[in-house]
Amino acid sequence: MTVTQPRQLDMVIGGELFGALSGDRFDVVNPATLRVCASVPFGTEQDVDRAVAAATRALPAWRAAPATQRGELIAALARLLEARADEFAAAETAHNGKTLADARFDVDSTVACLDYCAGTANKAYGQTIPAHDGYLVYTLREPVGVCGLIVPWNFPLAIAVWKLGPALAAGNTVIIKPASETPLTALMLGALADQAGFPPGVINVVTGPGSRAGHRLVTHPDVAKVSLTGETSTGQTIMREAAATLKRVTLELGGKSPALVFADADLDLAVDGSLFQIFANAGQVCDARSRIFVQDAVYDEFVSRFAERAGRLRVGDPTDPASHIGAITSARQLEKIRQYVEIGQHEGAKLVCGGTIAGELAAGGPGLFHRPTVFADVDNSMRIAREEIFGPVACLGRFSDYDDGIGKANDTPYGLAATVWTTDLSTAHRAAAEIRAGGVWVNTSEFLFNEAPFGGVKASGYGRELSMHGLDAYTEVKNVGIRLAGPMPSFEL
Ligand code: NDP
Repeated sequence: MTVTQPRQLDMVIGGELFGALSGDRFDVVNPATLRVCASVPFGTEQDVDRAVAAATRALPAWRAAPATQRGELIAALARLLEARADEFAAAETAHNGKTLADARFDVDSTVACLDYCAGTANKAYGQTIPAHDGYLVYTLREPVGVCGLIVPWNFPLAIAVWKLGPALAAGNTVIIKPASETPLTALMLGALADQAGFPPGVINVVTGPGSRAGHRLVTHPDVAKVSLTGETSTGQTIMREAAATLKRVTLELGGKSPALVFADADLDLAVDGSLFQIFANAGQVCDARSRIFVQDAVYDEFVSRFAERAGRLRVGDPTDPASHIGAITSARQLEKIRQYVEIGQHEGAKLVCGGTIAGELAAGGPGLFHRPTVFADVDNSMRIAREEIFGPVACLGRFSDYDDGIGKANDTPYGLAATVWTTDLSTAHRAAAEIRAGGVWVNTSEFLFNEAPFGGVKASGYGRELSMHGLDAYTEVKNVGIRLAGPMPSFEL
């Protein structure tokens, strides 16, 4: 099997390439040019059933394969991806609209993620438990079974692999369902599975609408676990629908993550880091720091520096190395951003930068672009401060003292991530402990480490990805108790 170039891609089921059983296909549009860049199969329930059957057939041998061998195959996939990094980055830019530099970064970090996961395959340790004299008690970590991996459109390759890597390392077989806007790189990766040496059916990729292909994965009785990254309401639907078959569920959902800039912070660092945290990937980032609270004493200075630098970010052709920000991934998303900018203005927030769609920035035609937008004097009760916009829109507000800052950071339905900018060690540690989020970062724009867990609390979902916690999420713990010479409960007859 060889990698198909991004024009007409097929699904990967049981080690072979297939169109949908219906024969239907759908177009994938490049958001920077609005030209069709590929067509992919319109997979539905019957295609998912076929993929689940292939994954179910492959499961016994794969879960019994030596863990070291599973790791070697994951590493082989990493090498194949690495060798095609330019091709994957180009495809990621074509369907998502992110800059080529960002896409290349994503591909490189995905290779690193696969390498990390390869190393974890033989480290799914159990424990020996000193439970009782005369007993040997220990735990085994076993794969969950067939896993459905439902992937969003903002980091199509990286997030697919955040799920795929640990699932494979733990001995599960998978069906990846990429987002309909961005199916190319998951299909391309799936097509490499055979070459890497994976047995047929271990890695399957099915494209098609969430309401049909995704829904079938969530309700299929032979799928043991579903992992979703996506909207909070999708997570709620999936939890409800997964209940009937008692599936394990990991949900990485929306966010409205705060940054707190204390008056003692290094302002240059805080301004530049905060710019990156909200405008990277055109703000289409689940843990974007979209609410930036600045302590009164430095608020005016921060706002003016932040707005000035936001205005200097270059939006445009994602393949142009000079662009900092590429296209918005879909017309639907651009419209959502436009509406929130309107809402912010009606709510009385002060627009200090951007605020407009920038269609004229497309190279040689129309495209989906939005200028970096900064609202100041945002009250935390405004809709733009409470609802996930998922675009290049920063909301700046004030706080008076430590308690006010922590209170505002935590006053949100979400809890994915947070940043604290301060030079005071005790403020940093106190805030890291008191902010309700899956992760807190201090004095840095975010680096996500394959070695450290990522995930949310509250409406941002539950379960962790990356790190050994990510591996745990794809295993079941089995307890074994062996009586060596100890007592055995029994009836007295
Ligand atoms: P969704 O949550 O709808 O999509 C995420 C994935 O779930 C896609 O693969 C989608 O498939 C699939 N899906 C959708 N509905 C179902 C279902 N009923 N059963 C199973 N799978 C399903 O997000 P959207 O693409 O609609 O984006 C809407 C908003 O969600 C964004 O504006 C943003 O605010 C937020 N979002 C947050 C993300 C995050 O990382 N936290 C990521 C993406 C979006 P398909 O693409 O075919 O619909």
